[in-house]
Amino acid sequence: MSESFIPYGRQTINQDDLEAVAAVLKSDFLTQGPQVPAFEQAVAAYVGAEYAVAVNSATAALHLACLALGLEPGGLLWTVPNTFVASANCGRYCGATVDFVDIDPATYCLSVAALEIKLAAAEGDGRLPDIVVAVDFAGQPADWDGLARLKARYGFALIADAAHTLGAEWRGNRVGSLSAADITVFSFHPVKIIASGEGGMAVTASAALAARMAELRSHGITRPAVADEGAWYYEQRSLGFNYRLTDLQAALGLSQLARIEFFLARRRTLAARYDRLLADLAVTRPAQHPDGLSAWHLYVIQVADPTWRRPVFDAMRAANIGVQVHYIPVHTQPYYRALGFKPGDFPLAEAYYSRALSLPLFPGLSDSEQDRVVETLAQALRACQK
Ligand SMILES: *Cc1c(COP(=O)(O)O)cnc(C)c1O
Repeated sequence: MSESFIPYGRQTINQDDLEAVAAVLKSDFLTQGPQVPAFEQAVAAYVGAEYAVAVNSATAALHLACLALGLEPGGLLWTVPNTFVASANCGRYCGATVDFVDIDPATYCLSVAALEIKLAAAEGDGRLPDIVVAVDFAGQPADWDGLARLKARYGFALIADAAHTLGAEWRGNRVGSLSAADITVFSFHPVKIIASGEGGMAVTASAALAARMAELRSHGITRPAVADEGAWYYEQRSLGFNYRLTDLQAALGLSQLARIEFFLARRRTLAARYDRLLADLAVTRPAQHPDGLSAWHLYVIQVADPTWRRPVFDAMRAANIGVQVHYIPVHTQPYYRALGFKPGDFPLAEAYYSRALSLPLFPGLSDSEQDRVVETLAQALRACQK
């Protein structure tokens, strides 16, 4: 009997979601209707942000965040290698130079110690970054106190790539309300905490940054009230994009947001269960910073020996368990190698990557499916240890 495939992550859709999307299909607006501002207001209220700008992906939100913060050709953006490529590509879209800061080997987020050393050296060279993109990896917030301290000292802008951390907290405050981040970006890709199909949102406490991103989201067009002009009048003031979210997507996101506490609770229960079930296996379980409360987007283990990762991955895939690897260090991608980066540049991210494995984690994962994941993992590890 072949057992059904268990993915590493997937959306959880219910009848309310279906009805919310169907209602939009029967309404007057498939896009540019009331659902998008309703979704923006709901996310802003939930995370504790002043302003929210919905767009069609977190990648688009990162691009607009960089533009709104004034990143230009000749500018400099730093991020971590242990992330999805979009965290770095947003700098390249603006024509800026991208560089990386190695990770904290405990949390796998940006290392504040490494950032401090790199900033001191960069100050000496007269080439400080304009923007640092800090990634809240796997659902765990980065060290936002350390980041705030270095931002105050060196004056760079901070973007929180919070694609994994809708609903996560740092010292009791939700990601999205943390004052250190100029702009915080969420993703609503189906594997993330809530789904809209494709979708993203940038939140900020700054009216000016929000207005700039809202203009760039829709071609750089605004509709000023000009006395001599009719109601059709609009002006294109800058070179923007069509990065709009549709009302269909916003309605799904809004319906999903109503269940976020259930999603987070189930993810946290499953993570605690993995912690217990894996305690005696030859793996490193994900360490949690005492000041953070994770949204548990991913449950990432490190196998004891890098030579085990491939056979364990293959054995689990052969058993229909959709393990994944997050992330191939971005600086080792061919595109970034062509810009001069090479293996060895960020050894902690590379060492982490060589042993990393993401186990299935999503609200619809049952206890018995999770047991199957752990049993298969234990068997695969035993085969390596022989
Ligand atoms: C998923 C993800 C993104 C991109 O999100 P999209 O909505 O798919 O564009 C960016 N950064 C990180 C860390 C991600 O995991």
